[in-house]
Amino acid sequence: MTAPFSWIRPEPWGIHIVPADAWIDPSRAVPRALVTHGHADHARGGHGTTLATPATLAIMELRYQTREGASPVNYGETVDVGDGVSATFLPAGHVLGSAQILLEHAGERVIITGDYKRAPDPTCAPFQVTPCDIFITEATFGLPVFTHPPITEEIGKLLTARAENPDACILVGAYALGKAQRVIAELRASGHTDTIWLHGAMEAMCRLYEEHGVALGDLRLVSDAPSKDALRGSIILAPPSALNDRWSRRLPDPVTAMASGWMRVRARARQRGVELPLIISDHADWNELTGTIAEVNPQETWITHGREEALLRWCELSQRRARALALVGYEDEDD
Ligand SMILES: [Zn+2]
Ligand SMILES: [Zn+2]
Repeated sequence: MTAPFSWIRPEPWGIHIVPADAWIDPSRAVPRALVTHGHADHARGGHGTTLATPATLAIMELRYQTREGASPVNYGETVDVGDGVSATFLPAGHVLGSAQILLEHAGERVIITGDYKRAPDPTCAPFQVTPCDIFITEATFGLPVFTHPPITEEIGKLLTARAENPDACILVGAYALGKAQRVIAELRASGHTDTIWLHGAMEAMCRLYEEHGVALGDLRLVSDAPSKDALRGSIILAPPSALNDRWSRRLPDPVTAMASGWMRVRARARQRGVELPLIISDHADWNELTGTIAEVNPQETWITHGREEALLRWCELSQRRARALALVGYEDEDD
């Protein structure tokens, strides 16, 4: 008889499913990986076999130009990963294709959330609350100070800024995978039907989303604009790195905005020269993190990938068994 949960082991470079010799979101190349979603800190190229949702595999193919060893698993589908361990991919509500992974072995159930959020997002399937014994949660915004306002409020600020600056343009920094498409979809949902202009680095991912059924309306590349004047009064999306570089000089008097959960921190907005901070995150905020732990109600919570200490303390105060993991190699590409 083996000790409970000895089949799952957190290592610095990922979570190891010992009997199956497979890894969840490993930060280095392994023979067999299960990948929660396409952000670079979770999905890396070079694995022998990669189990992931079809959309995540498509994102990985786009980013790494490799489809070798791709093994698609649909939401709700359970696959045998070997030696009595099964894996089920469940929606995580983070970005297109993002999944929590439920592992089952000898009657024991472990969920790895990957990154997740509970706020509604028209570009991906909503997080599914699922009972388990061990809940391994992310904690990117694991401090009580982090509360994300409803996205409609932030989109309203963006549309107001645009209306107030008819001769300028609003340049929104947004991550190319997930954030950009969510901002576009929410603009469309609020009735904004005008052309939205894109930096070239966003084109392929937007097209991929559309191929997966997420309608984004009329999108055009800034490089295809007939003149600088054609961009006046418009909304333009670019990766955060392009906000203050040479590329933005071609734009007519841009008002610089940024869509990120970190925009809650004024100093961060100032550092980046952001005039219009938009608190839009694809991660759970403090209330979503604690609310989800309470709702899933696991025997034990393992915390990783962010601000472990405060969430650990919250678990202790609410009489929940918890531990912090020390995984390496996670950056916030995707905040
Ligand atoms: Zn992440
Ligand atoms: Zn992510």
